[in-house]
Amino acid sequence: MPSSSIEAAIQKKLCDHFTFIEQIKFSAVGGGSINEAYRISFGNENIFCKVNSATKFPQLFIKEKAGLALIRKQNIITVPSVIDCFEHDDQQLLLMEWIGEGERTERFWKKFGEELAVLHQQSADYFGLNEDNYMGSVPQSNHQHQTWASFFTAERLQPMIARCYEKSLLTKSHLHQFEKLRSGIEGLFENEGPSLLHGDLWSGNFMCNQNGDPVLIDPAVYYGHRSMDLAMTTLFGGFRSSFYKAYHYHYPFPANYKEQWAICNLYPLLIHLYLFGSNYLPQIQSTLKQFS
Ligand code: ADP
Repeated sequence: MPSSSIEAAIQKKLCDHFTFIEQIKFSAVGGGSINEAYRISFGNENIFCKVNSATKFPQLFIKEKAGLALIRKQNIITVPSVIDCFEHDDQQLLLMEWIGEGERTERFWKKFGEELAVLHQQSADYFGLNEDNYMGSVPQSNHQHQTWASFFTAERLQPMIARCYEKSLLTKSHLHQFEKLRSGIEGLFENEGPSLLHGDLWSGNFMCNQNGDPVLIDPAVYYGHRSMDLAMTTLFGGFRSSFYKAYHYHYPFPANYKEQWAICNLYPLLIHLYLFGSNYLPQIQSTLKQFS
């Protein structure tokens, strides 16, 4: 549970936003990968709260707040509203609207597929973003590029390959295979402009609210190739076939989507290799073998 000093700071912040604050009560929330998460209850209200070190992951929650705001601005898919984001005692805190879980019906999955398709139709003049952010706990560079192949290679593959190589998780031979793969990327992704992406779309990063509507959480936004989000939904499963059908109806997949998804998933796989070790190497090797 948070320290009494953090608890007092939260209580004080909540007084700025709610007229009547009684004693607040914390309960731990599981399911996250990097942050401590709590439900804070007072009266009939519930708030979601995340806490992490302010020095280990600088601006982690400021970036999360900016990502949520960019998605919210599109008015397409629901995201939780942010109540406050602040630092206290070397900790950073994010206070958000509490999302009560609803039932994931067929309507939910269809709506989710449709809304993601429409989100992906929001574009920009470049691949990238006007700021860097995080994918989970890993800093993610978003310098702007004119082509997806150039962005994906320089801002996604290269930095993660370098980090994994430094930790001896990849060998020189892997580096050569990545080099060979690089030349094929351009041809595989031609003809599609940038899409606004969630950026970290695995099954732990969306919820179903009590109206039965999809809610995106924990984004790692940028303008990128839409196959990045779609590929990631398949990496650990958890998405129904009606989600893909609805997406495809509103924004058809390209003919070579399977190849694109395999290449796109190299990025989250490299992140998992870097964070969690060599269990993720065989899947990377199999994609390298397929394309290099
Ligand atoms: P982390 O950044 O540590 O991965 P998440 O943002 O994914 O944490 O949140 C952890 C878990 O907390 C989620 O899997 C979800 O079940 C729950 N959660 C996230 N946001 C909310 C919210 N606004 N309201 C209620 N529960 C939430």
